[in-house]
Amino acid sequence: MKVDLIIANAYVMTMDGPGVGMIEDGAIAIKGSKIAAVGTSSEVLSQFSADELLDAKNKLVMPGLIDAHIHTGFAVLRGVAQDMTNWMQEGLWPFMKFVTPKDSKAGSMVNIIEGIKAGTTTFCDYDTNMNDLVTNYAKIGARARVAELVNEIPDDMGDVPVGELYPFYSSIGEKKLQNNLELLNKWHESENGRITCLLGPHGPDMMSLELLKEIKNLAEKYDTKLHMHVAQGDREIYQMEKRYGKRSIPFLEEIGYINERLLAVHLTEATREETELVAKRGASMINCSGSIGIIDGIIPPILEFLEAKGTAALGSDQAPGNNCNNMFNEMKFVSILNKVKTRNPATFPAAKALRLATIESAKALGLDHQVGSLVTGKKADMLIINLEAPSMSPIITSPIRNIVPNLVYSANGSEVDSVIIDGKFIMKNRILTTVNEKQAIRDLQISADSISEKAKGEMVYSKSPLLAMMDRDEL
Ligand SMILES: [Zn+2]
Repeated sequence: MKVDLIIANAYVMTMDGPGVGMIEDGAIAIKGSKIAAVGTSSEVLSQFSADELLDAKNKLVMPGLIDAHIHTGFAVLRGVAQDMTNWMQEGLWPFMKFVTPKDSKAGSMVNIIEGIKAGTTTFCDYDTNMNDLVTNYAKIGARARVAELVNEIPDDMGDVPVGELYPFYSSIGEKKLQNNLELLNKWHESENGRITCLLGPHGPDMMSLELLKEIKNLAEKYDTKLHMHVAQGDREIYQMEKRYGKRSIPFLEEIGYINERLLAVHLTEATREETELVAKRGASMINCSGSIGIIDGIIPPILEFLEAKGTAALGSDQAPGNNCNNMFNEMKFVSILNKVKTRNPATFPAAKALRLATIESAKALGLDHQVGSLVTGKKADMLIINLEAPSMSPIITSPIRNIVPNLVYSANGSEVDSVIIDGKFIMKNRILTTVNEKQAIRDLQISADSISEKAKGEMVYSKSPLLAMMDRDEL
């Protein structure tokens, strides 16, 4: 049988089955946007011929990584809000108030490029103005599962003083919800099915009970999932207790939100009982070790969630407050931080982190029928990794293999040689094929220069500790 591409003589890590599904002399055949066959090189080469045959000796082929929670629209603000306790008000806000939709889109493009160069093929992006940002995914050719950030709070409000309830404006909520529905109607299952859409309520504290209920009904009507921050910080819990006399998770349980439609992001402040409830109800947890570490100095309760048999995924969150969008980092962070939390080096072995960035993540997002593992009939989303990179060397295969630990604890993403999404090379030998990387970076720099020029005056009134760091020559 004739196919479009065969990659042979590779280590193929399918992520099929309970482990990592390693085939040492493996091959994969691709026809159109799908995987036609996976097996040993001799099996695949005896049954298929191809227009293009790639000899992948000393290379690893593995499923593309899935970033289950990212806000690419924030990338233009990378590096302005870390090493401080009031991330939003003192860090982001003096800059954020000058960000235009054009700036946000320029940042998003570079953020997606950053992800692809580090092996991310599916982005679960959740942001304001997604109807505009989504065109970046269409252009670059990445897989995306997108939602509009829906809340009832003005974008230019900055932050509410501690102790006061957020004011809600129903007109704002309706407008943002309309944007989310427009996104769903226009983009869901577009671009050969690469782009799919979800509903994106910002958090239980960010909108009225009426709007939360309306969104829940719409999720049922559209039969879609809800991407939502849940128990993401002490301020959320404070708002919920002050407004409703209940913590976020018992409140959401009462209004019927905790079920398999929910992608519960963070759970930073969830108690053990609350975490177990979310897992038992079939909702997914999205764990963002890097961002919650940098913003809050907390390790989210993913161990408790997994112990309760929940399905979890990893996310990189936004560029200001992580500060990178690289799933190799997230795999490393989730593993090492939980070893530290439990004072046990056997906690969170590398394969577990790898599964959470591939097949488990696909299950959490409801995409496991398409991606997350290299299986015949699934979408051809995969990475070709250079095993001769210094950070991957040496490779041994007997008496034990060291590829999985090298990937999780040593690789940084630069080992990704090529990226295939939907059967097409989006990056080949580290060169992007669909967009001009240098031009995208230049466009982002123009935006950043303009924002920082405007933010100069604002920073005079800011209490950002970064100003003092700048004076002390620490930045
Ligand atoms: Zn987030």
